[in-house]
Amino acid sequence: MRLSDNGQKVFEARYAQKNENGEIIETFEQAVFRLSRTAASVEDEENKVWEEKFSSVIGDLLFIPSTPIWANIGKPDRPWQPGACFVLAVEDSLDSMYQTLKETAAVFKSGGGVGYNFSTIRPKGALVQSTKGKASGVVELIKLYDASSNMVMQGGVRRGASMGILNVDHPEIIDFIKAKMDGSLTNFNISVGITDAFMEALENGEEWPLVFNGDTYESVSAIELWQLISNAAHACGDPGIIFIDRLQQYNPVPGNPLDCTNPCGEQPLSPGESCLLGSINLAKMINPDGQANFDLLASTVGTAIRFLDNLIDAAQYPLPLIEESTKATRKVGLGLTGLHDALIMAGLAYDSAEGREFAGQLTQYIQQQAHETSRELAKEKGCFPAWEESIFYPDDTRRNAACITIAPTGSVTAMAGCEGYGMEPIFAVAYTKNTNVAGDFEVFSPLFLDECKKHGVTEEVLAEVARQGTCQNVSGIPEDVARIFKGAQDIDNTDHILMQAEVQKYVENAVSKTINLPSTATPEVIEECYLMAYRLGLKGITVFRDGCKKGTVTVGKDKK
Ligand code: UDP
Repeated sequence: MRLSDNGQKVFEARYAQKNENGEIIETFEQAVFRLSRTAASVEDEENKVWEEKFSSVIGDLLFIPSTPIWANIGKPDRPWQPGACFVLAVEDSLDSMYQTLKETAAVFKSGGGVGYNFSTIRPKGALVQSTKGKASGVVELIKLYDASSNMVMQGGVRRGASMGILNVDHPEIIDFIKAKMDGSLTNFNISVGITDAFMEALENGEEWPLVFNGDTYESVSAIELWQLISNAAHACGDPGIIFIDRLQQYNPVPGNPLDCTNPCGEQPLSPGESCLLGSINLAKMINPDGQANFDLLASTVGTAIRFLDNLIDAAQYPLPLIEESTKATRKVGLGLTGLHDALIMAGLAYDSAEGREFAGQLTQYIQQQAHETSRELAKEKGCFPAWEESIFYPDDTRRNAACITIAPTGSVTAMAGCEGYGMEPIFAVAYTKNTNVAGDFEVFSPLFLDECKKHGVTEEVLAEVARQGTCQNVSGIPEDVARIFKGAQDIDNTDHILMQAEVQKYVENAVSKTINLPSTATPEVIEECYLMAYRLGLKGITVFRDGCKKGTVTVGKDKK
């Protein structure tokens, strides 16, 4: 059980148990046992067996639980709250708005992020009966919630992250779409909830009514609204879009409304539900001959699902409502990280049909094994309580209403030392890092460096790669190396979307994925991405144009 130097830094900064003086008093190995012991504590006789199995897959970094699990579970001074993803309801009353804000603070304190669908809130300027005044509306409410996020640190490590969704027919949608263009609302991701009816109006070039409580406020051109969304995303990366009818279409418990996701969009949840995440490390699932080790994958997935399911019972919840909703459906979000590492090890390009096929095979296998385990757990421990209201009733007994989610894995991948986060391609094979302390220095992808060594690539050529931030079209880089080592910006947007679509096929929740675009991409390209996402059956899409927001890492020294 050993972490790399960088991995150890992440572990110590975020997850290790500390004493009152903030000194670290826990090794990685001790933390692995802390998690495993707590998860195994809900088992009957085989308790010990499972503790060992959990610690073996986690300690070997085959399976990596997400941040709140490491930061909270089994610690004497933290709530045992394992969930990363929450969705809360907000109703159209001052009481509910502040009640939800208070609930949010409780969730943030326990280390989770929150999503809200604000479509129930009356638009700005609408009448407030009790005072005969005018409502302040959705965007003002988001500003309030955003400001509050600065106050409450998530589990003491990061500021609270939120997702705000507004459906495309809400009368305040135009202000909402523009809400982040001035650089504000930094704690919020925002997404427009796109309906199938809107897509039809768009296709037919129709007017689109903006409606609240049955009253039409105005009608706007569907095409112009669509362009407004892509223009805003072009300028600042927000809003994303979520095809909300698809969330409901795949809702495992159709009676519970499903029109919202957690902050990064990968986990659709009904109000009050929470979900805990964990990822299979695909970089560890490839044999030296480049073939996938399906046996190891199967046993790891089985152990991981049991671990996550156990934590639903071992958990301490921030609110009774959340406990009740979470235990009713017992959703878990097992996903993957290091997909690109695995593709590289298998000699496949991320942007190739073969690469997509391999990614699909791995994800499909993870899903099959997860569902199989959930069925076995149902036999052993019972189905999730809402099973009789679910799409699985009466033939398909399961312990969990949903099992698979592809998270961004921002922190845990850094700890595990994979190069590709979640299902994303590697950021770049090399880049120049600008630091105040050490000046500028070059950072190379270790997988890339290894491959270059094998091919005898010279230092001069490598320096040129670092200057350009890419190995594409650099003379001295063999074609075979360039084909496999493409960073996020080297991959065409359609190939990003095709990979997302392939993986999404085997994910009943959703996937976190960014579609990278060069700084020169026009808003029309973004519209094309959105249409492609809709046609390919994605649940949502987020585009990111290089340089559109401050603070992005510079790819290549010359491209500052
Ligand atoms: N999340 C959050 N705040 C953050 C990062 C993440 O609330 O600063 C939540 C959010 O719901 C996100 C989920 O955790 O979608 C998973 O994020 P990620 O996979 O990056 O988490 P990790 O476990 O790697 O920290």
